[in-house]
Amino acid sequence: MVGSVGAELEVSPSIVEMNGKVETNGKVEPLPEEIVPVIPIVLAENGANEDQKVIREIVLGRNVHTMSHAVTEPEADDEITGEREAWMASVLAKYRRSLIERTKNHLGYPYNLDFDYGALAQLQHFSINNLGDPFIESNYGVHSRQFEVGVLDWFARLWEIENHEYWGYITNCGTEGNLHGILVGREVFPDGVLYASRDSHYSVFKAARMYRMDCEKVSTLISGEIDCADFKAKLLRNKDKPAIINVNIGTTVKGAVDDLDLVIETLKGAGFSEDRFYIHCDGALFGLMMPFVKRAPKVSFKKPIGSVSVSGHKFIGCPMPCGVQITRLEHINALSRNVEYLASRDATIMGSRNGHAPIFLWYTLNRKGYRGFQKEVQKCLRNAHYLKDRLRAEGIGAMLNELSSTVVFERPQDEEFIRQWQLACQGSIAHVVVMPSVSVEKLDDFLNDLIEKRKTWFQVGKVQPSCIAVDIGNENCACPQHK
Ligand SMILES: *Cc1c(COP(=O)(O)O)cnc(C)c1O
Repeated sequence: MVGSVGAELEVSPSIVEMNGKVETNGKVEPLPEEIVPVIPIVLAENGANEDQKVIREIVLGRNVHTMSHAVTEPEADDEITGEREAWMASVLAKYRRSLIERTKNHLGYPYNLDFDYGALAQLQHFSINNLGDPFIESNYGVHSRQFEVGVLDWFARLWEIENHEYWGYITNCGTEGNLHGILVGREVFPDGVLYASRDSHYSVFKAARMYRMDCEKVSTLISGEIDCADFKAKLLRNKDKPAIINVNIGTTVKGAVDDLDLVIETLKGAGFSEDRFYIHCDGALFGLMMPFVKRAPKVSFKKPIGSVSVSGHKFIGCPMPCGVQITRLEHINALSRNVEYLASRDATIMGSRNGHAPIFLWYTLNRKGYRGFQKEVQKCLRNAHYLKDRLRAEGIGAMLNELSSTVVFERPQDEEFIRQWQLACQGSIAHVVVMPSVSVEKLDDFLNDLIEKRKTWFQVGKVQPSCIAVDIGNENCACPQHK
């Protein structure tokens, strides 16, 4: 048989432990009880009121160990028979089929899965690495800085900052952009207090923990936008300390866009002059959609902001996680260190950086351009309205923020359905993020399935939607009390 681990092969006990299961005579012992995947935890995040703690079960994903493809040792004659090659090819072919299937049924995460990078397949033979600073060539020559800087210049133009005034890099993801932006803020104001609305992405609070910063969690409106009245109250409580603010250009769950102008106004109204605050704009989700939406507040370095970040694998549609981070050059000098080993400057969070990602971004930007993105944004907003309207017509509570393509609705009662459509859920709500890869046909398939299954979740013929007014507002709720 191909790929069996020979009995004579000694496996060190530490490796066995690392796999999280102990193997005895070919039998795998059951998981210890404390890691069985249903864990009730206490959440204080969803209710507006801290002391309204709700117990809700978080259902973790399936245990991956039971479905893993084991790495197996080649046998002596493998090379001659070619059996191993054939076996590996079959594993990959099966995996590819499952990817096609899972890509088809994906609605919950804001990833644009519609792309064709066939022209770039030729580059997979190279170990492209942009370690160090994009603007300072290192001694490692197999890099793609020429593409990286081209992409950064494109974003600098979008966010209105001159080429000689910005600094930035292609990150590994939106999270890295947030970690970097908040770090820059902290380096500019070492004793600054971090303010972020409670609907901010978890990476913002992770940054606060990593950097051990004082963090004020600001309330949100029902739409998910930052509540500037609460923001002002919290600013006034910390008047003696500079302010570092995370502004959401599209929150993760509700797709809410914080009003940047109102945030700046609130800061000034609370007595914070421009030299006492730093604003990082988390545009992971809508950073690239917002510029193409009419009436949307503009993200621009002509305003007193310090940095903007966006994810490359979300709206833009990149097959590997990546992102873009842009800040002001003046800030980066405080943060960076020269590294002789690289013959470059270290101002990034990571060491080695994916040199393929900038080429994928460059490729898409060239193909679509501003006009192409605008068209796709229009399509997403149109399809999102279609989904919301149909949900409401079916008597299902749903909300869609004006500037957003994230449709929030009641959480389906069936975890299998949630997994099937790969919905993202929080508390009593779920969402679909309408990306360019989500067509009306796909939405119809989803809606038909939802409507059909919903009849079985509730009493047949008597569908009673639960109240989600605290999450989406009375006017959007479809429960008996609010409809
Ligand atoms: C997705 C997201 C992030 C994190 O981006 P990753 O690329 O997944 O690391 C940060 N902020 C918001 C608002 C997001 O939606």
